[in-house]
Order: sequence, then C-alpha cells, then structure tokens
Amino acid sequence: MTPGPADRGGRRCVVLMYHVIDTPATEAERQWCCEPWRFGEQMRWLRDSGHVPVGMDTVAAWLDGRGELPRNAVCVTFDDGTRCLRETALPILREFDVPATAYVVAGLLGADNDWLRADGWSRRALLDAADLRALRDSGVTLGSHSLTHADLSRVDDDAIRREVADSRTRLEDTLGAAVDHFAYPFGRLRRHAYDAVREAGYRTAVTVADGAVRRGDDPLLLSRVEVYHWDDLERFGRKVRWGAADPELSARSLKRVARRLLQFGGIHRPRLPA
Ligand SMILES: [Zn+2]
Repeated sequence: MTPGPADRGGRRCVVLMYHVIDTPATEAERQWCCEPWRFGEQMRWLRDSGHVPVGMDTVAAWLDGRGELPRNAVCVTFDDGTRCLRETALPILREFDVPATAYVVAGLLGADNDWLRADGWSRRALLDAADLRALRDSGVTLGSHSLTHADLSRVDDDAIRREVADSRTRLEDTLGAAVDHFAYPFGRLRRHAYDAVREAGYRTAVTVADGAVRRGDDPLLLSRVEVYHWDDLERFGRKVRWGAADPELSARSLKRVARRLLQFGGIHRPRLPA
C-alpha cells in the first residue's frame, strides 16, 4: 500500500489518538479500547506502508519552524495513562520501533480511572511513577493530561492554573526532565485554559478535534484522528491516508473537507471557544 497522496514533502502529520490497549470489559468503554492484536497489526501496517512514526517533539519542532517533518509522518498518542500502556502497548511499540507520546493524569499516578466509572467503564489502574520512568527510559514521550482529569471548560480560573501548571511541575519532578506537551481532558477547553497552557510553557497541546495537523496550525490546538475499537486494518489505513476518524463520504466528512478548503484559503482558522 502507498501512503496518502495528500502528503507531499511532510506538509502534514496525522496524530493518532488511542486510549486503552486492551479488550473492553464493558459496552460503555468499547469505543476507546483497541485490542492488543489489532494495535500490533496497525503498528506493523504503519511500518510496511511507508509511514514514518514520529514523537511529539518532532511535531513541535516542525510547527516551530525549527525542524523538518518526514513525509507521511504519523504520531501515536495515548490519553489517560492506563497501566496497559506499559504492560501491553510498550512491547508492541518496541517491536515496530514506534515512538509514542502518552498523556498522563499527574495527580492520579498509581490510582485508577475513577472519573470514567460513572459512565460505565471498568476499573482500570493508572501508571505509577515507576511505570512512567520505565516508559521514559524506553523512549516514550510523557505529556500532561492535567492533575485530576478536570473538564477545563467548567472549572474556575485558579483550578485551571493548578490543573495545567502544577501537573507539569509534578511530572517534571517525577521524570527529572522537561514536560512539553499537554492534552486537554475530554478535549474541552475555554480561552482561559488555552492561555494557561501557553503561560505554563507547553510547546504543544492536543484536542479531540478531527483531522490531520498541518504547518501553520496553532501548536496549542492540534487536531487528532481517533482510532476506534471496531476499525479493521482497511479502515485504519483509510483513516491514516485521509487524516480523518470517519474516512467515508458522509455529511460529516464533507463538512470537514469544506472546512479545510476554507482554512487553506485563509477564510477559516480553527477558533477558540469563548
Ligand atoms: Zn482523558
């Protein structure tokens, strides 16, 4: 298979979003659980199809204008920092030599995914400090996913500052290294959260807006492409090549294409919520 025609000379990067690499235990969490065998098949496909997995530092340098992005770049990211990242995902990432970025909830190291239980998720253990250091030593880039997985569109300004800045400090103390990347919990934010992320000194921040990242995009409002539990390999390949979570000709994808065309024409830029 050949990489997507949309990418000539590293002009875009598809940032893939995963959560749990495990069999779903409840119906409610199914969408966000990628079976380990399927994850392995996807990582193998990236390599076999000529895509180039890169870390978020490479994406940041490219957006800053300080580094080049390889053609057909793909960045693999994980949200929430469940323990399966070390136990299940890491051996697969190593097998296919795929750099990855994991966003962890800094105030809940070694705890569990309590914030999802009310929504019908199973109890899932989160990575602890030793796990984070092991991931770091294996080349995984660690980013912040806030302190308590608070919805930053709903908490007050002081809480936003704590969630954004204190999570960074805490992770840097744990890892003994700079933490430069942030993922907005639930993908939700408002102006003050965006400002807090910038003031805290993060180089990039990812959302859950659908689409590929292109040069000129705001580094603190990066789009991603979500991988679902039910994506077979063919659909996964289409997602990567189209840079879209729903790579079918639907009303939704046509709207996305139209938005991109307007954006390229300078008519539309991604906007922050008030
Ligand atoms: Zn999350």
